[in-house]
Amino acid sequence: MPELPEVETVRRGLLKIAKGRKINAIDVYYGKIITNDVEEFRQALIGQTIEDIDRRGKYLLFRFSNQLTMVSHLRMEGQYFSQSVGAPIDKHTHVVFQFTDGTELCYHDTRKFGRMTLVKTGQEMKVGGLKTIGPEPTPEDFKLDFFKAELKKSRGKIKPFLLNQRHVAGLGNIYVDEVLWMSKINPEQPANTLTAAEIWSLHDNIIKELAMAIKYKGTTVHTFVDAMGDAGGFQERLNAYGRGGEQCPRCGTKMVKIKVAQRGTTFCPYCQPLREVGETKIVGLTGGIATGKSTVSSLLNQAGFPIVDADLVTRQVQRPGSTGLKRLAAAFGPQIIGKDGQLDRQQLGQLVFSDAAARRQLNEIMQPLIRKAIWQAVDDFRRTGVATVILDVPLLFEQHYDRDCDYVVVVAVEPATELQRLMARNHYSKKMAQARIAAQMPLEKKIQRADLVIDNNGSLAETRRQVHQLVEDLRNPR
Ligand SMILES: [Zn+2]
Repeated sequence: MPELPEVETVRRGLLKIAKGRKINAIDVYYGKIITNDVEEFRQALIGQTIEDIDRRGKYLLFRFSNQLTMVSHLRMEGQYFSQSVGAPIDKHTHVVFQFTDGTELCYHDTRKFGRMTLVKTGQEMKVGGLKTIGPEPTPEDFKLDFFKAELKKSRGKIKPFLLNQRHVAGLGNIYVDEVLWMSKINPEQPANTLTAAEIWSLHDNIIKELAMAIKYKGTTVHTFVDAMGDAGGFQERLNAYGRGGEQCPRCGTKMVKIKVAQRGTTFCPYCQPLREVGETKIVGLTGGIATGKSTVSSLLNQAGFPIVDADLVTRQVQRPGSTGLKRLAAAFGPQIIGKDGQLDRQQLGQLVFSDAAARRQLNEIMQPLIRKAIWQAVDDFRRTGVATVILDVPLLFEQHYDRDCDYVVVVAVEPATELQRLMARNHYSKKMAQARIAAQMPLEKKIQRADLVIDNNGSLAETRRQVHQLVEDLRNPR
C-alpha cells in the first residue's frame, strides 16, 4: 500500500502531467471508484482545469477551477499515468480524464479499492479518513507535546498506535517498522510505557525518515510506481522492513518477523527488546579513570537499557539560567560564566584546583542538586515500567549511590593500563595522572565492592562479549 512518501511522490508526478490541463471528457469504466453520482461527477468536471494538486496524509486533493476538490485515495494499488488520448487501455484502468491538449490521465487499480470523491473546496476535511486525520509528519505540524499526550492515553501496542492516522498522518507498515527500529522500540511495547527519551527519538525519527523517503521518491514494494512510471529508490535504504531472518544492520542479531495487529512486523530482538512492566532494577555502573566505562555504558544503551548519566545530569543542572549556575556564580564570581552564558569549566577548575576549601564549597553547592536530578531521572524511567535503569556515575562509591543500587558493575583495567590511558586521553604527565588516580577510591577497592567486574584490558570484542553476557543476565535473572 502506498504510504505518505509514495503518495507525495505521486503528487509531484501529477503536477507535471495534470496540473494546468483542461478536461475535455471523462470515461468511467468502473463506477464504484467514484463515490458521487457518476453522471454528476462528469458534468461537474468537464470543461474545468486542474489548478493544483495538494496532499493531506495519504489523500490527493485535485483542485479544480470551479472551486471543487476531488479527494483521491489510492488505497492498495491505485496508480495514475499519462498517455495520448485514444491510446489503448487495459481492464484495470477504471477512470480516464481526457485533456484538451491531446493527453489523458488514466486511473489504474488492480484491486479496485481506490476511491474518488468530489466536494466543494474547503469541505475536503469531511471526507472519509480526513475527518480524524492527525498532523502531517513535519516539524511545523507534528508537535512533541501532542504526541506525548496521545501516547500517555493509549495502553495499546505502539505499532498499531502509529498505524492509526489520528496520531500522525502517513505512516504505514513499512515506515512504522523502520522508525521503531531506528528508535530501538519493540513494536509490541505499550504506547504509554515509552520513556521520555524514546518518545523524543521516535518523534524525531518519524519526521526524518518520512522526509528522507520522500527525497528518494518512496519505496517500491509490489507494484508502486510514481505517476511518471518510475519506481521509488528507498527500498535500498530500509533497515527492518522485509529483512526477517537477516542480520540486524546495527548489531548483527538475526531479525525476527512476527504478526502485530495482523500486520507482518520485523524487528531486532536484541536492540528492540520488549520491556515488561514491573519492579525497576537499578544497576550502578562505574570504574576507575579512563578504564572504558563510557564504552560499556554505550553498549548497554545500544541493547536498549535506559542510562542515567551523571555527567550529562551535571551539565543539565549547570545549564544557562539554572539554579545551579546562579549559585556557582554567587559563590565564585561572574567570571565563571563564559560569553555564551555557559559555565566556563576551565575557569572554575582553576579556581578550585589547589584550594581544598573552594572544592568543598563547590561540592556542597552542586552535589545536592545533582543528586536530586539523578533520582528524578531514575523515577521518570521507573514510572514507564522499565525493568532496569543503568546509573552511570564516575564517583558511584565515593558519593554513596551504590547504597541505592540493586547491582553494581565496575569496569576495570590493570593499574599500568589505567595510567597509560589517562596520560594519553588527557595529555597528562605521569605525575599528574598518578595524582588524579590517587584522588579517587583505589580501583582495587571498587572491584571488591562490585557485583560484577568487566575486564576491559583486552580488545573491544572481548568487552562486547562480557557486556552481552551482562545483558542476558539482566534480562533473564537467574
Ligand atoms: Zn539489532
